[in-house]
Amino acid sequence: MAQIIDGKAIAAEIRQHIANQVQFLKTNHNLTPGLSVVLIGENPASQVYVRNKVIQTTNAGMNSFHHQKDATISETETLDLIDQLNADAQVNGILVQLPLPAHINADKIINAIEPDKDVDGFHVVNTGRLTIGLQGMAPCTPLGCVELMKSVKADLTGCNAVIVGRSNIVGKPLAALLLREHCTVTIAHSRTKKLNEVCMGADILVAAVGQPNLVKGSWVKPGATVIDVGINRIETESGKMKLVGDVNFAEAQHVAGAITPVPGGVGPMTIALLLQNTVRAACMQHGIPLPD
Ligand code: NDP
Repeated sequence: MAQIIDGKAIAAEIRQHIANQVQFLKTNHNLTPGLSVVLIGENPASQVYVRNKVIQTTNAGMNSFHHQKDATISETETLDLIDQLNADAQVNGILVQLPLPAHINADKIINAIEPDKDVDGFHVVNTGRLTIGLQGMAPCTPLGCVELMKSVKADLTGCNAVIVGRSNIVGKPLAALLLREHCTVTIAHSRTKKLNEVCMGADILVAAVGQPNLVKGSWVKPGATVIDVGINRIETESGKMKLVGDVNFAEAQHVAGAITPVPGGVGPMTIALLLQNTVRAACMQHGIPLPD
């Protein structure tokens, strides 16, 4: 039976470590890292995500600045807000909660953020830095996936990693991060032929698709580490809603060496890594080495 990778516990450890780093920065450098979160409109899921981000930022001892804007805000006004946050020395990280209303071009807004404050790691400059191996901000969910993999096996060198999904927020940046870890990386997607066979070659198998139970137990190489990024809400036979991943957990747990559950795997890691990026951003902006 596979080891269940406890993302909740690992995320809690990371948050505690960040709280210690923040305390050190306050005491020794008079620096309190600050994160600004911009939420436009009333998307209920976005509201929940933002609330959690605000709570966890504050719990880590950081400053949290919340900018709730009406869905009617114009693109120009949004860009003005980003300019204001870019210029604010108290703000070390800026996160614009996606999706944005249709009349606002998300790429334009993300790329208006000062790259060193882009704690989501979505700015084209940070994408480029990640791809060519320069220091920068990497996206939080892929960073969280790597942490989970390393909790199983600290050195990923030479592992065959297969990532199912090629989105800009998960699949592609995760591929770049795993190349840095010296993995041999394959990215699969909806046009991949014989997906099952591609997956069967993976020492590390990541599913970031958004299709409930797509990855079957028979696709998993015995002993592989399986990271399930998918979050899908499905209706059970009794009519209740429940969250499942992209991997058929019931099958895969009998084959994998280690596997993340949904919920409680990748999900809790994302905000923890967002906090980590904010502390890194604050240190970089002040020329302070990241505390241990
Ligand atoms: P996208 O919809 O942007 O990308 C999905 C990818 O999966 C695409 O590359 C698509 O291929 C591929 N795909 C779709 N169907 C298949 C298939 N049948 N076989 C193989 N590949 C397929 O999704 P995201 O990357 O944004 O998110 C993926 C999942 O991860 C979602 O469930 C999302 O909710 C979850 N998620 C979880 C996070 C967390 O914090 N835990 C954070 C972000 C996302 P193609 O490119 O060819 O269309």
